[in-house]
Amino acid sequence: MLFDEDTIIAMPSVSVPDAVAATRIFIVEDQPTLRSNLRQLLELEGYAVEEAADGASALHRLAVLAAEAELRPQLVLLDVGLPDMEGYAICRHLRQDSRLQHVPVIFLSGRVELEDRMAGYEAGAEDYIAKPYINAELLSKIGVALRNGQSRQASHELQGQVNHAMQAAFTAMTSASEIGVVLQFMKGSFALQDNTALQQSMLQALQELGLDASIQLRSLRGVSTINAEGPCGQLEIGLIETLARRGHIVDAGRVTVFSYGQLSLAVKNMPREDEERNGRLRDNLAFMAEGAAARLAALDTAWQQRQQAATLAELVACTREALRVVDERFRYQQWASGDIMLRLRESIDRAFVSLGLTEGQEGMIARLVTGAGEEFTQLSEQGVDVEASMKALLKALEASQPLKL
Ligand code: CA
Repeated sequence: MLFDEDTIIAMPSVSVPDAVAATRIFIVEDQPTLRSNLRQLLELEGYAVEEAADGASALHRLAVLAAEAELRPQLVLLDVGLPDMEGYAICRHLRQDSRLQHVPVIFLSGRVELEDRMAGYEAGAEDYIAKPYINAELLSKIGVALRNGQSRQASHELQGQVNHAMQAAFTAMTSASEIGVVLQFMKGSFALQDNTALQQSMLQALQELGLDASIQLRSLRGVSTINAEGPCGQLEIGLIETLARRGHIVDAGRVTVFSYGQLSLAVKNMPREDEERNGRLRDNLAFMAEGAAARLAALDTAWQQRQQAATLAELVACTREALRVVDERFRYQQWASGDIMLRLRESIDRAFVSLGLTEGQEGMIARLVTGAGEEFTQLSEQGVDVEASMKALLKALEASQPLKL
């Protein structure tokens, strides 16, 4: 038997929308217990949940929901192993429907090999979560996917038309203009002063080449992975990081990943059917990725120097303040110890009058006091040495600042 009694599609749990419309999540899962657990978890978080237990009913229901903008799910949680089809097929179907193509899809699956995650990525998924999942991790990934989905939707509405027209125009580019785009990018990259500008400029050049690409920068300032539509999904981020460790040019499924230094470029539509153009493009893209990685390394070094200069400036300020405090205390102590010695001598002189000591005894006490006074002075002189070394340290610190801020 292919279907169990649970393959009938469930009715939506929220029929009347709340005053503030809840975020809608569509679950496709054939296991009744798991499906009900997921529903409970998500409803507790305030999401409006709809569910389907197999591929056919999911596709049917999604087609109905797609027709009404306010009913469309904002995220789909998709099981891979369904009784009638693989979840990947549903995901591909969503990506091809212009009304649902920006809805993030998260796969939930017991299969966790690189090939499985790759299949999910190629089908267009945002993320891939292994079963058994941890509730907190699932909710956190749902939150990230929803934010990415919104961001892509907004970006799509703004520039979707422009991108489409541009992509179509540039797909027919000749090899001369192809290398032109690459060189133009390289030339411009030297003037770019930050990572984001570099990433955007590279993305622009890739779009001009008609390529559907994502760029990952793993710089000292953090990892950033974007494509023309905005931030990339967690699944893609993880896959690029994995493939970057495997070599400079790695083909995985339909994707080719170019990695140099701390930069990776993932292209999803290499013209593999056109051997000549594909080969030429591989060379050009490798050249471009290597050049951009070198620029990124230079930007990282400059940033690191600025950080070091800032740290050093802070250190100088702290040392100067410490020195001021030490100096103040030292002067006070000098004054105080001189004062103590003076009063000691006065008290002893007064005591000599009433004690009736012999001249010899008075002389011995006076020598002891003078000796102690000399020790005090020696200690003070050592203090002056400390002060001098601290001033030298401060001078050295100030001189070693690589950049003026
Ligand atoms: Ca299943």
